[in-house]
Parts: sequence; C-alpha cells; structure tokens
Amino acid sequence: MGPLDGMLMGIKDNFCTSTLPTTCGSVMLKGFTSPYDATVVKLLEASGAILIGKTNMDEFGMGSANVYSDSGVVQHPFTCEKDVKEEDRRVAGGSSGGSAAAVGMKMCTAALGSDTGGSVRLPASYCGVVGFKPSYGRCSRNGLVAYANSLDTVGILSGTVKQASVVYDAISKHDPKDPSSMPDKLRSKLDESDSILRSQWTKGNLKGLVVGIPQEYYVDPMSDDVVDVWRSGIQFLKEQGATIQSISLPHTHLALPAYYIIALAEASSNLARYDGVRFGKLKGQGEGWCDMMLYADTRAEGFGAEVQRRILLGTHVLTAGTFDTLFLPAQKARRLIQADFDQVFYQHNALYESSVEQEGQESTKVHVILTPSAISSAPRMTDVLERHESSNDVKAVDAYMNDVMTVPASLAGLPAITVPFGKSAVDGYPIGLQLMAQYGHDGFLLSIANSLA
Ligand code: GLN
Repeated sequence: MGPLDGMLMGIKDNFCTSTLPTTCGSVMLKGFTSPYDATVVKLLEASGAILIGKTNMDEFGMGSANVYSDSGVVQHPFTCEKDVKEEDRRVAGGSSGGSAAAVGMKMCTAALGSDTGGSVRLPASYCGVVGFKPSYGRCSRNGLVAYANSLDTVGILSGTVKQASVVYDAISKHDPKDPSSMPDKLRSKLDESDSILRSQWTKGNLKGLVVGIPQEYYVDPMSDDVVDVWRSGIQFLKEQGATIQSISLPHTHLALPAYYIIALAEASSNLARYDGVRFGKLKGQGEGWCDMMLYADTRAEGFGAEVQRRILLGTHVLTAGTFDTLFLPAQKARRLIQADFDQVFYQHNALYESSVEQEGQESTKVHVILTPSAISSAPRMTDVLERHESSNDVKAVDAYMNDVMTVPASLAGLPAITVPFGKSAVDGYPIGLQLMAQYGHDGFLLSIANSLA
C-alpha cells in the first residue's frame, strides 16, 4: 500500500514520461517520447498513483490563458460543454490549464503542473481548485522540460489542500539528479521547525498567527470583485483568531519586469536545443545537415508565435548592449524582492547563514502573507483570443500583467498556494486567494492553507 494508492492523477505535458509522448504543447516536440520518466513521475507511481494521461499546456509553459498550444485551447470547466456559446466561454488559465481544468471537472483527483511565474496558482484561481507551488528545490526538476531553470518548480493542482499535501509528501524528496534539489540535511532542519510551528495552530484556532497584507499588491487593474474576496478572506482568518498586519514589500513593482527579463533570458538559452538535430525534425530544402536555412525553418515552423516572441526578447536581453542595462538590473531587483520578504517574515531564511538580511522591525513581522492570486476571475475566451490573433506585440505583452500577483514568490523561491475562496459578485466565476510563507516552510504553509479552505 502506498500513500497515493488508487489516486487518479493527470501529468502536465512538460514532464517526461516513457510510456506517453511529451510535447510541451509544441509542434517542435510532436511525436517525441522520452526514454525516461521524470523523477516526480516515478515517485508518484511508486506511491500508488494511477497516471491517467498528460494534460494540455501553453507551449513550453509560456502563457497565462492556455491558448498557446498546438493541442488547442483549454476550456474552462464551467463552460466546456458543446452547446455553450462562443461569447460565454472562459479560459482555464495557464500555463497548467489542462491540469487545472481536469481537476476542476473531476476527471482526476490531482494533477502535476509546473510553476515558473504562477502557472499553477493562476489557473487554480480561475478554475476554483487548489494550486500549490512548493519552495524552489523542494521537488526534483529532473525530467521537467526547462523553461527558466532558476524559477521552474513542480506544482500540484487538486480539489483540496489535504490532497495537495499528500501528493506533496510523496514527491518532495532530495534527488541527486537535480543539482538544485534541496539537501536532506536542510529538509530535516526545516521540517523540525515546521512541526513546532504547525503544532501552535489548528483549523478554526489561529490565535497568535500573524497574517501580512502587503499594500503593494493592491494594484490598479485589480477588479473590485477580487478586492471583495480578499477582504472576506482577511475577515475569515480574523474570525479564527489571527492577527492581521498591514505590511510593505517596497520592491514589488519591480517583480513583473524582472521576471519577464530573467525568465525570457533563461528561456532563450534553454530553447536553443530545439535545432532540428537533437529535437524536432529538420525542415526546409537545404543542401546539407549544417545548412542554416534548415535550422531557421525548423524553428520558424516548430515554435508558435508567443514562443518566438519570447526567444527574441530573451536573446535581446542577453546581448552585449543590454546585458548591463536590463539583465543585471533585473537580477538586482530579484535580490531586493527576496530581501523584502526576508524582512517581513518571523522565520529566518534558511538559505542564509546569518540573519543580516532580516533587519525588519519585530512589530511588523508576519508568519504568512495573504493576497489574491489573480487580478480578475477567468477572462473571456473571445477577449483573450482576439488579443492573441491580432499579432499585435503590445497587446500580447499586455497579458503579462495577469502574473503580477504570482511572480514575486517565484523570484524569491518561496512556497505559495492558491486556495479557492469565493466567487465573483459580477460573473459568479471562482476567485482564489494566495498564501505565501518563508522559504522552505512548505508544510507550515499547507497547514495554514487548510484553515482558509
Ligand atoms: N504566465 C507566466 C509566463 O508566461 C508564467 C508561466 C509559468 O509559470 N510557467 O511566463
């Protein structure tokens, strides 16, 4: 008997599986089957999970609405029936939209997603399910096709926080095949301090727990219905005895630009391997295998428009002229964002030996942070497709705004979770709230998230 015996699970199509193809939603990998299974896939199988299939995704994990896939768009679970009018359809969110929709429709109990900048938390919010992004390094990336290595994490989508916890326990293991995997020694240290923290609070009794509300997350484009759900989440925690503390994370405004510089720089380098020789079939009429036309044709036909746009942006960021003016400042911004979080959490960041980075005032320290996961409920499919099909770069880049709530935790490597909390008073679609905790305190975060559910 394993802890996941009989649990039906979906797997996002960017995890390598040796018995099913792995396409990452891309023409480039059409028909590709990996010779090996991702470590987390092996761990799920060893724990008794039944893997029922691969789930659709935005090509190579790039997108927020799951409309950028060679396998077609992902429909929102509430509007997926055939007789729903086009103008009434909603997106499921991305890039792990297939996993969120499959869980939302109860096709499976849980599904693996990946979260580089919010790809499990955003679709979870739109579809009304739980979406958990563990701390960076907690779950092995071996066999997860890389988008941006310094940000990529394995994620879990499920109906309840408890289900996410059991799946997490099964896949959160040190893996020597992933150089960024958290070592066992640090895991034991963190788990010890987590079990002390967890014993202090139970569902319904959060007396002494301090919940931070960062003022900078109250952004202009956030819709009123999301603000209302955020307020009721605050009230709900207060009623269980938690103390609500207004906090400031002053560099939050730098997170979105920093993310889109760092993620795309890393992506442009990662995606260089799709050259038609090692992956993807050579296209074109060139003379020999080294003819550059073959390479260009392969990439022009194998990658969708959004992936090409990102490769170009990422390559630009890494060129000599802009390395100092874009890439390095983005890395600095990332450090400042991490330091903001370190200053507000009671818990020391286990990645640093000393607590120098944590000079914040004791009176404004918090155990967890509560924000929305998205600035709106699930957008209309027609609006998203119109933007996508207009081939207007500015409109396409506008969509990056949807990630504003989720990218800070990604840049800082923190654990973060979407818990479905309410419905939009305007359209009735689900709205999720995001809880974040200090680096490595995943178990503690999950136990508090259970109190919000
Ligand atoms: N929407 C973000 C992006 O397109 C995040 C994607 C992800 O987390 N994989 O980069």
